[in-house]
Amino acid sequence: MPELLKTPGGKMLGAAFAIIAIATVVVVIKRSFVSPEVTAANTRDFVDSATGKAFKSEIQPGEDIPIRAPSGGNTGYPAELCYWTADGHVKDTPTYVLMNEYAGKPGQPTFCPDCHRLVVGHNPRASANRKPPPTEAEYNARHSNSNKSDNKNSAPPPETGRGR
Ligand SMILES: [Zn+2]
Repeated sequence: MPELLKTPGGKMLGAAFAIIAIATVVVVIKRSFVSPEVTAANTRDFVDSATGKAFKSEIQPGEDIPIRAPSGGNTGYPAELCYWTADGHVKDTPTYVLMNEYAGKPGQPTFCPDCHRLVVGHNPRASANRKPPPTEAEYNARHSNSNKSDNKNSAPPPETGRGR
């Protein structure tokens, strides 16, 4: 086999085999993950803002947000998924987070009720290689620093010494 791989044809053959092998593995992995739930590609995660509970629903094209929620009202909002733990590690089962912009508090940052970390729209998937988002405390500390100068509201220093 090593002899064969030294020839150009052998290298091609080796590459082709590698590609086939990778493709096979991908297909097998995908198959093992596809459950009836996942097969419905339109099924998304929502949070019922009336109860705070997550639910899955199929969203129809043109359907308005909020959608009909299990509590009976139109209080179903798209959920953001948070996979972080409070100590900055990655967990397997997500926390479904209702964004503040949907909870009647637009413009306010949303924090995960579980890990208390910042959650943004299209929240990036947690990964061990990624720096975890700031916690609520870290976020507030950062932002109160930048706000301090604004809060003083002091008049600008008098312009003395200008001119002669
Ligand atoms: Zn979280």
